[in-house]
Amino acid sequence: MSDFGQFLTSSLQKIEQAGLKRTLRNLTSPQGPVVECDGRQLVNFSSNDYLGLADDPRLAAAAHSALDVSGWGAGASRLVCGNHTLHEALETALARFKRTESALSFSNGYAAAVGTIPAVVGEGDVVILDKLCHACLVDGARLSGAHIRVFPHNHLEKMDSHLRWAREKHPEARVLVLVESVYSMDGDRAPLAEIVALKEKYGAWLMVDEAHGVGVIGDSGRGLAEQLGLSARIEIQMGTLGKALGSSGAYICGHAALRDYLINRARSFIFSTAPPPSVAAASLAAVELLEAEGEDLLTRLWLNLDTYTKLMDQPEATSAIFPLILHAEDRAMEASRALGEQGYLVAAIRYPTVARGAARLRTVVTAAHTFDQIKQLTSALRTFRPLDS
Ligand SMILES: *Cc1c(COP(=O)(O)O)cnc(C)c1O
Repeated sequence: MSDFGQFLTSSLQKIEQAGLKRTLRNLTSPQGPVVECDGRQLVNFSSNDYLGLADDPRLAAAAHSALDVSGWGAGASRLVCGNHTLHEALETALARFKRTESALSFSNGYAAAVGTIPAVVGEGDVVILDKLCHACLVDGARLSGAHIRVFPHNHLEKMDSHLRWAREKHPEARVLVLVESVYSMDGDRAPLAEIVALKEKYGAWLMVDEAHGVGVIGDSGRGLAEQLGLSARIEIQMGTLGKALGSSGAYICGHAALRDYLINRARSFIFSTAPPPSVAAASLAAVELLEAEGEDLLTRLWLNLDTYTKLMDQPEATSAIFPLILHAEDRAMEASRALGEQGYLVAAIRYPTVARGAARLRTVVTAAHTFDQIKQLTSALRTFRPLDS
């Protein structure tokens, strides 16, 4: 048997030679439009803190006061003795905000996906998903043991033919379609109305991940499904609390019985310690903030997105995510490094987060950026445009 240390170092060398080595940055400031990163002040265009809530004093205050009465740790899984009224209050608020019959929170989006998908489909069933679905949806599908069919990004004809195949080859199977409302690395939207119509045509179920839609799209940030009036026709809605909501965690919402079902069947929920009650308190404050001030926050966000697209001569924004595709991995890394020298934090995204040869700068504009910050960034980004072949 070969030496374990040697295995690790030679594997890392291969990753490095392929230009795919990843390392961690160190932040010493709160998350925000300007961060202190490895000792330097950088204007931050990389975070998913779309509304600037991650450092909002009201979230911190909610966590502080919960901490004073509830302590820190949850002590056990929700089902054993870790369930706090704050978790329940968060879920009541989430269902109200999402206008669904029930909601269940999870520690994070990854856990929500890998817990929920295998809870509703299994061996002999079929999962049909978009090629650009997030890794946690892919992993949830694999973990379920169902047959998996992938359609090219937003390709309705291919989705239709997969659905027809599923109905012909597996007439008894449960068929689950997985899509995102806003795709995380491209920032474009799914044609959700058409997708809902298609899954209904074949009697399939639909799960929509609104990780980048909630807090960004729809009435007070309720998401794309709600904006299009489709919520009631979507079996499973998922969203995260660590992005636009500025906290941590995720939710699944929908049918009245979905919550109780997942409490009994989602293994990532059952076999995992409950998040600290204070985290639930901060998430609850974020949901209440969106209910009270979501319209204003989203107005500010979309004004900034509009500023960015106008300065970049780009079509109207569909989300807060703007990819600048530079293709080669080293080119994206070099562009990100050069922007860093100029004082901007703009992450380069490479394989396996995106396809090989589709490396990019992923720029995120938030409600917290100033006009000048956006204007200066677009001047800096423009120097990379001639390279964008
Ligand atoms: C970030 C993300 C997740 C995972 O959520 P976490 O709470 O960060 O684990 C799931 N789906 C999509 C589309 C995401 O972008």
